[in-house]
Amino acid sequence: MVMLRCKYCGAPFEAKDVEANTPYITCRSCGTTQQRIDAKAYLDQVMDQVRSWVSSAMPGGFSMSQAENVDSIARHNIYVTNVRPRISAEITEYKFAANTLMTNPLFVMPFTTDNTAKPVHTSASAFEFDAKIKGLSPLAVDSNDRKELNTAEDLVKSYALMINNVKLLQEDKPGRYVLMSNNFSQASEMLSKSNEYAPMSKRFSALAHACNGCEKLLNGDPMGSISYLEKGVSGLKDVKDNLFSFPSLAIMYQGVERELSQVSAVADLVRSSSSNGGDPVKTLGALAKISSIQYPNVSNWTILRTKDRNSELFQHMSEALGARSGSGTMLIASGDGDYLFPFWDVDLRYSFVTGALWSKKSVEVAEDILIPGDFTIDSACLTNPASGVTDIFALRPETSILAGLRGSETSISGGEGIGAISETARPGNPGARKIIVPLSTKKEAEHLTENYLVQRTQSNSKLRLSKPYVKNLIYVPCKVSGSSVIIDGFGKLLPERIKRTDINKLIVL
Ligand SMILES: [Zn+2]
Repeated sequence: MVMLRCKYCGAPFEAKDVEANTPYITCRSCGTTQQRIDAKAYLDQVMDQVRSWVSSAMPGGFSMSQAENVDSIARHNIYVTNVRPRISAEITEYKFAANTLMTNPLFVMPFTTDNTAKPVHTSASAFEFDAKIKGLSPLAVDSNDRKELNTAEDLVKSYALMINNVKLLQEDKPGRYVLMSNNFSQASEMLSKSNEYAPMSKRFSALAHACNGCEKLLNGDPMGSISYLEKGVSGLKDVKDNLFSFPSLAIMYQGVERELSQVSAVADLVRSSSSNGGDPVKTLGALAKISSIQYPNVSNWTILRTKDRNSELFQHMSEALGARSGSGTMLIASGDGDYLFPFWDVDLRYSFVTGALWSKKSVEVAEDILIPGDFTIDSACLTNPASGVTDIFALRPETSILAGLRGSETSISGGEGIGAISETARPGNPGARKIIVPLSTKKEAEHLTENYLVQRTQSNSKLRLSKPYVKNLIYVPCKVSGSSVIIDGFGKLLPERIKRTDINKLIVL
């Protein structure tokens, strides 16, 4: 039987598809449908290239068919003198490229894309090289040579399948998890034959489960998805924990770690939104909304373009859902309102010099500032950080000018009221209150505070600031009127951002 190859990605078609004998054939690796005659033409083209490459690897005047007829010692000699030197350099190159690709996460959450991984080969060239190795295998008579060649073939083929998966990470198209799962399963099975690649094989098997889970989820079966997602989580955890005993694959650590955090986030999300009779489809909608938000493009905020920030946002969302279902808690401040607004609680310490002449002294002050969790979508907060925080330095206590002369100043900020709000935050459940999902990460809150301090120290030379410490995320009860958010208790410290907030642009659970 003639095997066919996909003219788009180079993958060989599976026997059952070739036998079906329909005029059109769909690739199970990249998902493209093509005419059977095109797949046949592509196969012929590849085989021509392989044949001419193989004959160029032979000693002068020898053809493959001749080589197959000579005795095994002569074949072994051809392999050792002519073929191996030629092919081993290329195998090394492919091994290196495959290992490099494995440093990237090979999974994305539903509705998201990831284009960080940049394979140096196309899948077509990798599949073609795989065919070349196969073409040479009759010459490898020694069992060690044969084993070496088979292992290389499995790795190159797995690498080709992963190149196809990387392409699928970049495009949120329907059915991609089926294709990815298929590629992962195939690669896992091939690599399971060698001890050397055992962790890679296990990683792919875990990712195949995770992809099956996502596919079920997207098809409206969240309950059915959980066991697959959990298998993915435990498999990746196992790979991560045992990777240290495989130094040659330790390079995968970061990729596996990021896959684990993403698969866990999806699993948590599904578990917590289903457990309380919640609506996982709605949650998925929120998930989609989070990942499609366009953040402002401001020069010193490239941090908003980092890829793994989404997994932290999903984590916050999943914690909120967990608190609602009763399987966890969230920090809630006291106050009135049927909505809960997220704030980053930041511990800020500074010192300043007060008094004049002989009464000069340094005073240490600790303050809390609160940062609205949605500040990242507002370009005005990014360019003018004071509008994205409870701007304690804008309110210098009125008595301070005179007191400053006497050296009795105790603070040049006015944040006491804010500390009182954050101190009321206790672990609790939202009950029926609606939860506004934070759209910033802890690191971003820290970055905003640092920018704020730079902004304020430029206008107040007496200030000496230490590095701010972002403590945690707290939720402050608020009301919604029209599209505006109303929060009591902040007084004059209410961040400008809150006044600009449009509830319709936020994600509410
Ligand atoms: Zn294909």
